[in-house]
Amino acid sequence: MKEIIFATKNKGKIKEIQAILGKDFLVKSMEEIGINIDIIEDGKTFEENAIKKATEISNITNKIVLADDSGLEIDYLNGEPGVYSARYMGEETPYSIKNKKILEILNGVEEEKRSARFVSVIALAMPQKQPITTRGTVEGIIGYEIKGENGFGYDPIFYIPELKSTVAQLSLEEKNKISHRGKALYEMKKILEKMV
Ligand code: IMP
Repeated sequence: MKEIIFATKNKGKIKEIQAILGKDFLVKSMEEIGINIDIIEDGKTFEENAIKKATEISNITNKIVLADDSGLEIDYLNGEPGVYSARYMGEETPYSIKNKKILEILNGVEEEKRSARFVSVIALAMPQKQPITTRGTVEGIIGYEIKGENGFGYDPIFYIPELKSTVAQLSLEEKNKISHRGKALYEMKKILEKMV
């Protein structure tokens, strides 16, 4: 079984990635290997941020490291909040307020112009090798109301027309099947199976 460090403090993500990578890989958090550092996400793209996180932790530990960066791109807002998704309108501002505000900004905007996507980039860093990234997206529109109790962040305003549902109305299992992070992780699994 190959050990892989996932550069996150979020235990939910460790579970998610372990479930997708399966029993050939043992996924460990930074906490489990005794690393507690904050890496500043100052890149202009999801790729830059994910590569920075994975590479810095790999350089410190000399181990195989995965890191992710994700966010919501709203076309009407020229791709915002994008890499600033967590910090948009202030990191401490509750998503109930952020989501309400986005609906207000898009008030009166017709459906064709409400397109948006969740993006997730996973970076793999290994000692003495160039980093590799995978990218997963899920396309949808910004809905007209806050709907659904599941998920987190922008899920209650992200509406997927084919499913006639917001992401917050999906079960965790349903979300994982179609999610940006799930897609990027499945692509990364294929790379890991070949390289590691
Ligand atoms: P992170 O890079 O995975 O920590 O995600 C950064 C931010 O993007 C989160 O704080 C959310 O605002 C947003 N985001 C990423 N993935 C999702 C998702 O699946 N649902 C809702 N919001 C998300």
